[in-house]
Amino acid sequence: MYQLGLRGRLFLSHIIVMVMGVATLLMFGRLYTSRLFMEYLQTMEFRGFLLYAMRSSLLQGFESAWSRGAFWSVIFGGGTAAALSYILSKRIMQPLLQMQRITAKFAAGEMTARMPTSDIPELSRFADSFNRMAFALEDVEQRRRDLVSDLTHELRTPLTIVEGYLEGLTDGSIEATPVIYQRLSGETQRLKRLVNDLQELSKAEAGYLPIDAKKFDLRSLLQKLVDRFSDQLIDSEKSLKLEIAADLPRAYGDPERTEQILINLIGNALHYTEVGSVVIESEVIQGMLWVSVKDTGIGISEEDLPHVFDRFWRSDRSRNRKSGGTGIGLAISKRLVEMQQGKIHVESVVNQGSTFSFSIPIAQKTIIPEKRSTQS
Ligand code: ADP
Repeated sequence: MYQLGLRGRLFLSHIIVMVMGVATLLMFGRLYTSRLFMEYLQTMEFRGFLLYAMRSSLLQGFESAWSRGAFWSVIFGGGTAAALSYILSKRIMQPLLQMQRITAKFAAGEMTARMPTSDIPELSRFADSFNRMAFALEDVEQRRRDLVSDLTHELRTPLTIVEGYLEGLTDGSIEATPVIYQRLSGETQRLKRLVNDLQELSKAEAGYLPIDAKKFDLRSLLQKLVDRFSDQLIDSEKSLKLEIAADLPRAYGDPERTEQILINLIGNALHYTEVGSVVIESEVIQGMLWVSVKDTGIGISEEDLPHVFDRFWRSDRSRNRKSGGTGIGLAISKRLVEMQQGKIHVESVVNQGSTFSFSIPIAQKTIIPEKRSTQS
């Protein structure tokens, strides 16, 4: 069955309203104006005008004049109303049809398609919401593509190395020494670490890492970590110190996730400092507890600084690949800090050292955890 479109329906509804209005006007006009005219004639007669003989011809003349007047009013009024309602229906329909075309384009994968603004406020608000959603989806899509391409790149290198060694071992061009097996094992361990880090990162980015926020003693957590790392520093030329106030307020966050962040920051600081010191400090700034991990290591160049929290980013790819870094640790740390309503940043000078600082809410302050991050 043929279904009228919105424009047809709008137009038809306007026409029905107009026809009803005109029909009512004509019906009541015809009934009442003649009666009122008769009453007027009677009043005139009371006043002494002799109208009896002319009464019916006067009435006829009046009715014919009224009918002609009404006829032209209907023609012009109706015509204008119909034209106006046609223009109006078109004006409402045009942006709707345009929006329909744009959503279809978007659904077909054209992620850059955006709605134009409309001078109808409701449609403009709708376009606005759509555009915001489109931006978010485009961003997710872009990140997904980046992830797949980064991942392919990251997996290819160890796989190529393993493949090369295995081929060499098979055709005898490489001697099967313990060193070769160690290298093979190193590459497979790298692959395993990459897969584990990636799983953690994807959980963090999708908000599937549960945040079990509670009040906890940041001071004792820092002390525990310093003790643990210090054990590994015996006989080394670097030191690890904790310099925090005794009356540090309690933090509000997930102690395990905070530990994960700190292990990554302290681990990096020690890793990138051959000789020197790593100092952990903490202070309250603008209602948040800030923890900073300062090292006197190799530092990060100014142009590299904006990328340190990007996943898979390493300042010197080949060197860090050998050292086993995946370039995912800081991306996870950043996400974990944000999931606990904090911020993370870095300052660094090449050959002088780096300072990574992150914030965590103070216990007295109640925070509403991010909705997604509470899922498990
Ligand atoms: P990973 O250390 O596993 O490679 P991260 O995400 O933790 O991955 O770090 C990314 C990169 O940032 C490192 O490869 C390194 O180049 C740089 N980096 C991180 N921390 C430091 C630091 N304290 N000093 C110098 N460079 C650092």
